[in-house]
Amino acid sequence: MSTGLITAAYLMAAILFILALAGLSKQETAQTGNTYGIIGMAIALIATIASPGVEAFGYILIAMVVGSAIGLRLAMKVEMTQMPELVAILHSFVGLAAVLVGFNSYLDHGNLTGALLTIHLSEVYLGIFIGAVTFTGSVVAFGKLRGIFSSKSLMLPQRHKMNLLAIIVTLVMMVQFVRLGGDMNLLLIMTAIALLFGIHMVASIGGADMPVVVSMLNSYSGWSAAAAGFMLSNDLLIVTGALVGSSGAILSYIMCKAMNRSFISVIAGGFGTNVVISDDGADQGTHEETTAEVVADMLKNSTNVIIAPGYGMAVAQAQYPVYEVTRKLKEMGINVRFGIHPVAGRLPGHMNVLLAEAKVPYDIVMEMDEINDDFSDTDTVLVIGANDTVNPSAQDDPNSPIAGMPILEVWNAENVIVFKRSMNPGYAGVQNPLFFKENTKMLFGDAKDSVENILKAL
Ligand code: NDP
Repeated sequence: MSTGLITAAYLMAAILFILALAGLSKQETAQTGNTYGIIGMAIALIATIASPGVEAFGYILIAMVVGSAIGLRLAMKVEMTQMPELVAILHSFVGLAAVLVGFNSYLDHGNLTGALLTIHLSEVYLGIFIGAVTFTGSVVAFGKLRGIFSSKSLMLPQRHKMNLLAIIVTLVMMVQFVRLGGDMNLLLIMTAIALLFGIHMVASIGGADMPVVVSMLNSYSGWSAAAAGFMLSNDLLIVTGALVGSSGAILSYIMCKAMNRSFISVIAGGFGTNVVISDDGADQGTHEETTAEVVADMLKNSTNVIIAPGYGMAVAQAQYPVYEVTRKLKEMGINVRFGIHPVAGRLPGHMNVLLAEAKVPYDIVMEMDEINDDFSDTDTVLVIGANDTVNPSAQDDPNSPIAGMPILEVWNAENVIVFKRSMNPGYAGVQNPLFFKENTKMLFGDAKDSVENILKAL
């Protein structure tokens, strides 16, 4: 392919990626956005392979066949609840790729001298640093989301000072690395520091703050790709990396606002860890149980109902019977709406995707800020598999790991029904005083079974 054609193809791919991001920002246009992204990536792949200077097609083909086979298998097999893990591990691949590209560029820097060599070595150094942090940080995030590692934060003594020291040492070594015209030992030491920094940064973040970590690593993976683009002199990779990096940063900002966390402390790492885990074993009082039949009666006698779904609804795949119950209640003239917490589930927009899948109309799906004041005028709230996102200790207990996080104030309603299987805590690992409130009743069992039983009783 001629250089002109490749530039045109790259431009086209970049425009399609921008359209993809625009499409993905709304549920109604998300599928179209995805299609733009797929077409853009196909164009980018073909143009890159057809670029002058690309050789060894046999190896590229083998890598593509193996990679596509693994990717396809994973995408077909993955459960919706495992998506964040998949995203985290994919981010780690981007980080690892940036590290490998960095070392490759370092070893093969041609005949560069003077300012060009300085720029090249800086690119290599920064690219490897960002890539290594993204790599190990994403692997730890994967482990935490999959339950391999504890979701609680690792609180090493002097952790903030250690992070600061790591950054200072890395910067000082960068100056020395460039001054010496590229020294392999310094590069290796920095890579080791960056790998440890990535592990520590994510390990020191508590479960409830994981949404911010996932979006932050998303952003880091974009900047890793952009760094790789500079090293490979590939304009499209720079543009794509910058798009992912900046959209990930915007998402992190939105998540920070949703969690009431400071954006700067997130970027620096180890945030949200200055809290003392509250005493989970403390006596919270007694809880009261109820049955599907009683809940069905309660719903029939309600005028306003709000459903607050959470991760448990995704696990149980209860969204379909939930929609059937909604439809039935609406036919009875009851006002039913959904209240969605921004970090409910395990990935941004998780609940919206599930409800859209079950064909719940968008106009009854409200954001937390839109619905929080309405709970006091609500007869019945169904908390279906949500826990941390409806935990009043975020407001009442300054020592709670979720302190300060805005939550759905479901307890202001007349009746609250909590659907779960046990009295176990949510993802943040803290007990929920909501379960022991006078107006709360527990409906134990798998959420899908419970909702189906209510449907029958209606
Ligand atoms: P939680 O994870 O706090 O709680 C989920 C609840 O669902 C549990 O209490 C569990 O109780 C119940 N549950 C699980 N399976 C079932 C089932 N089959 N039937 C009925 N109930 C079930 O949920 P939330 O959505 O309220 O909060 C999300 C948490 O995840 C927050 O802490 C958030 O910060 C974090 N997070 C969010 C991410 C995001 O981007 N949205 C990413 C990473 C983490 P039991 O076991 O007793 O049934």
